[in-house]
Amino acid sequence: MRPCHGDEEALADWQRGLREQFPIITTHPGLAYLDSAATAQKPRSVLQAVQAYLTTSNANAGRGTYPWANRTTELVERTRRRVKDFLGDPDPRRSAVHFTSGTTEGLRVIARDWLTSFLSDGDEILVPFADHRANLEPWLEAQRLLADRGTDVRVRALPYQAGSGDYDHRALARTVGPRTRFVAVTHLHHVYGGDMNVQRIRAAVGPDVPICLDAAQSVGHLPVSVAESALDVDFVVFSGHKALALPGTGAVWARNTRGPVLEPGGWQGTPNTVGIASLEAALDWLEAAGTERIARWTVALAARLTDGLRHLDSYEILGCQSSLAGDSGQPLQQRRHGIVTFRHRGIPSDDLGFILFSEGFMVRADSLCQAGADEKKDGSVRVSLHVYNTVDEIERLLAVLASLDRGLH
Ligand code: PLP
Repeated sequence: MRPCHGDEEALADWQRGLREQFPIITTHPGLAYLDSAATAQKPRSVLQAVQAYLTTSNANAGRGTYPWANRTTELVERTRRRVKDFLGDPDPRRSAVHFTSGTTEGLRVIARDWLTSFLSDGDEILVPFADHRANLEPWLEAQRLLADRGTDVRVRALPYQAGSGDYDHRALARTVGPRTRFVAVTHLHHVYGGDMNVQRIRAAVGPDVPICLDAAQSVGHLPVSVAESALDVDFVVFSGHKALALPGTGAVWARNTRGPVLEPGGWQGTPNTVGIASLEAALDWLEAAGTERIARWTVALAARLTDGLRHLDSYEILGCQSSLAGDSGQPLQQRRHGIVTFRHRGIPSDDLGFILFSEGFMVRADSLCQAGADEKKDGSVRVSLHVYNTVDEIERLLAVLASLDRGLH
């Protein structure tokens, strides 16, 4: 349903109020930050929480008996509960939250500490070969570790539907077999911006196979709920720094109902307590702002950019053809969140990135860490949005892109 005019005005007012809470954005009015899929900017409350922690409680966690140490231990435990609550965890006494430095480390923790003790000889794991590289290498590493111990497991490719940026849900049915024991998929694709429809993957693999969700691009951008009626997955892995917390933060949430138990991670070594303080504040901020409304905002901006680009002959938007629209439920472009990747047919991506920066736009212009062969992505530019981005920024960007379309640069 399209929002009516009054709704749109209310949404714009709400967004203005939130944008003002990002000091780096308001102090650089001439620059548009369009690279939030790489890392997001931080609201004032997160910066304040970091300063408050460092000036009132900084100590090590899980050791020490004095008040600062106790407060730090409590912060870590409280943030574990906060992550569960934020994800709508239906059974928080059973699940675990393990803090990491980001999604890459989180996926490695699952591969090394959990998957290797779960698989047996002849088992198969299903992994998309054109997701972010962070969601491929840990599973290949687990396969190697197991092979060293004399256990042979097969890593099978979860196929993509050519040109669509979506998994090939028809081919999936042929790839899943009786030995499929684990699936690792992405929630929102970091190049195409599409919701990868994990519910359909669950339907294809059945109720018993654990699914690991790379939620690096979804947590903090849209509601992510692990309540059974929403995402029936076993792991949610995300990067705190993409969800408004400090760099070097992330978490693994484990449901712990299928397969061995993943422990929350004890007190060996010093946890990133400053990062954890920032994550608690970031989740509070996101919940108060409302992830549903954040999604509405960024989806609308991405739709405006996509519509504008479609009128410019020199550009090709990646992941936009959806010949299997009827098969995969909704066509991907209708499920596109705040990420739009495109290429100019005549200008290499590095050059386009420089030109756009000279006009005040910070975008990603390289191979985007995507695994698998796709020559087009190497020449592409990615615009990724968050709640601080504005309609005006998109219109100005389109004006520059249009001038390049007409060869005016
Ligand atoms: N997975 C996806 C889908 C991503 O987009 C990214 C980062 O861009 C990662 C994993 C890796 O995240 P991090 O660098 O925080 O470990």
